[in-house]
Amino acid sequence: MVQAPEGVEGAGFFATSLEKVVGMARKNSIWPLPFATSCCGIEFMATMGAHYDLARFGSERLSFSPRQADLLMVMGTIAKKMGPVLRQVYEQMAEPRWVLSVGACASSGGIFDTYSVLQGIDRIIPVDVYVPGCPPRPEQIIDGVMKIQRLVETESLRRRDSAEYKAMLNQYGIE
Ligand code: SF4
Repeated sequence: MVQAPEGVEGAGFFATSLEKVVGMARKNSIWPLPFATSCCGIEFMATMGAHYDLARFGSERLSFSPRQADLLMVMGTIAKKMGPVLRQVYEQMAEPRWVLSVGACASSGGIFDTYSVLQGIDRIIPVDVYVPGCPPRPEQIIDGVMKIQRLVETESLRRRDSAEYKAMLNQYGIE
């Protein structure tokens, strides 16, 4: 058996890394900002209700201020005129921030292949996870949130300062 170093033996002691502790805390306290423009937003209401209960994942505290939000959930058809608003909301969020694209419309324009609809929000902001469906069921939305949780939990604390991350933002013209 490995002997614990002097001063750290006894009950109640365990070793971990700062990254793991921060990752675990962030993962279980994600504050989402719901950017819901149409029908997919209705499924999100069901996701927040007592039956599906997103609160089980530590995400019951919705934030309607980008300054206090970690996760931008885009749900619904995004008209091109709405694009600059969505982008401004994203830019107002503090790092670290994540984006979940919920449903076909947000991810690709869906059935609205027209001049007035943005053919996917990833044309203007980076997306971390896509949820398919028209509309996705609440279980799929929860699955998307759980995938975001895995990203949050395993993200290095240095990623947001890395040259790769800044280059990715630069591709979108975001400072
Ligand atoms: Fe509505 Fe379907 Fe578009 Fe969702 S993906 S906003 S359900 S049309």
